[in-house]
Amino acid sequence: MTQTSATTAPEIRTDLMIAGRWQQASGGARMEVTNPATGETLGEVASASIADVDAAVQAARVAFDDGRWSRISGRERSRVLLRVSALIRERAEELAQAESMDVGKPILFARMIDVPTSADQFEYFASLAQHLDGSVRETPLPAFAFTRREPRGVVAAISPFNFPLILSSSKLAPALAAGNTVVHKPAPQTPLSALVMAQILRDAGVPDGVYNLVVGPGPELGDALVRHPDVDMVAFTGSTAVGRIVARTAGEHLKPIVAELGGNAANIVFADADVDKAIGAVINAFVFNTGQFCMAGPRLLVERPLYDTVVGILGQAVGGVPLGRPSDPGTVIGPLASQAQLEKVEEMVKDAVASGGSIITGGHRVDLDGGFYFAPTVIAGLGNDAVAVQEEVFGPVLTVQPFDTEEEAITLANSTAYGLAAGVQTGNISRAHRVANRLDAGIIWVNGWAMLDPAVPFGGVKSSGWGRESGPEALESFTRSKSVIITIDPEVAS
Ligand code: NAD
Repeated sequence: MTQTSATTAPEIRTDLMIAGRWQQASGGARMEVTNPATGETLGEVASASIADVDAAVQAARVAFDDGRWSRISGRERSRVLLRVSALIRERAEELAQAESMDVGKPILFARMIDVPTSADQFEYFASLAQHLDGSVRETPLPAFAFTRREPRGVVAAISPFNFPLILSSSKLAPALAAGNTVVHKPAPQTPLSALVMAQILRDAGVPDGVYNLVVGPGPELGDALVRHPDVDMVAFTGSTAVGRIVARTAGEHLKPIVAELGGNAANIVFADADVDKAIGAVINAFVFNTGQFCMAGPRLLVERPLYDTVVGILGQAVGGVPLGRPSDPGTVIGPLASQAQLEKVEEMVKDAVASGGSIITGGHRVDLDGGFYFAPTVIAGLGNDAVAVQEEVFGPVLTVQPFDTEEEAITLANSTAYGLAAGVQTGNISRAHRVANRLDAGIIWVNGWAMLDPAVPFGGVKSSGWGRESGPEALESFTRSKSVIITIDPEVAS
């Protein structure tokens, strides 16, 4: 990439990928990419215009309609997707470095989680590409009736800043497996891994025009994509606020949409839990990715007999979680991904204190290299209606509330507008089932946090969105059902 600082970013193509060719943005516009660990500029990438969005959609339309991908066999698509997965593993270090520098993600996790998960996603959907099965329907008709699963057409894939690689692959892998073509718009703050992936998809043999990449300002390009008449489906991951706008526009145009939106999960620790393991799950649930993950567990609910113990341990332990430069392999908490995110987290913590919360640990910025660092923070004493309890903070901030009964825990856990994830830490298997069944969320972890796999459906309820990524459910989202009824006995039928 065009580098403007001494930081060593991997050599990355920085233009747009349209119709299988790297192209400059029309008019040659460029935008800067910031390194969250220093606040300096990492380099510049192309900044697409509406005309580029149109060109990308047209390329995807042509590639879909002429059948170069949509009408080859699932097995052929599967082979290409397996090559994508293999190339991700081959270029793992380059991808991990790009993701770490761009997002401020500790290199440890970029290597251990982001890159391998992305490769696994392509591998998993490569296998499902061979199982786009319909079914035969028994009817009293003088006919043979069956269903087919067909690709939807051109998919707009819009991804957020926090897990650029995983949340792009979670759309691209099922969309491509099903035979769709794609126009991908990553978050403008974190476009680097998408640029590497565009080359990987090309090198793996994804035909020209089947995958197109436009990088640039979110609202303008995203909106142009969603309302474009040649886009047949929208796969969106992002905030609930933007998700509402996207859903409204998609609704006007009657386009199907998968919407993976914000979260604000409760993590319930019962007094019968294994305390050491529960504390591990609690800390992991709010510091991983510096708290910038939709399925974070920033609301801790602790059964009263254990409350003081848990708060005491958190006060001691949280400050010891290694915070530092993302490039240091020992770092667990890196900087927030942007100055804006840092300011938002700081504001929410100030508001929590003004609302009566007391800081058990953290609560302040950390001065390191000019980066966007915030200390992991635990806040006790807030009422359930405090903004920091009800809204998504999206930073390394945990609020703690006591509860007295199982019923109260369930009520508190379900009391926000969101419903992406929730956790139950308990030694009682009956309680685990009972509580998991009543939590209003798309995914529940019992005695752990954030375990995921491409085979397990992921998605939310309520203001956390609808539709599922991962699992066979994702393939359903990216296909449409067609019924075919073939007359067997023409005389009876007429
Ligand atoms: P965001 O909503 O600001 O942006 C998401 C994407 O939408 C970006 O690519 C952005 O450029 C684009 N965009 C912005 N305005 C648009 C518009 N008007 N039309 C179409 N696209 C538009 O989200 P973010 O700040 O990048 O990401 C953080 C949010 O994403 C958090 O709320 C988090 O919970 C959520 N998230 C959800 C999941 C999930 O699976 N449910 C996963 C990760 C992140």
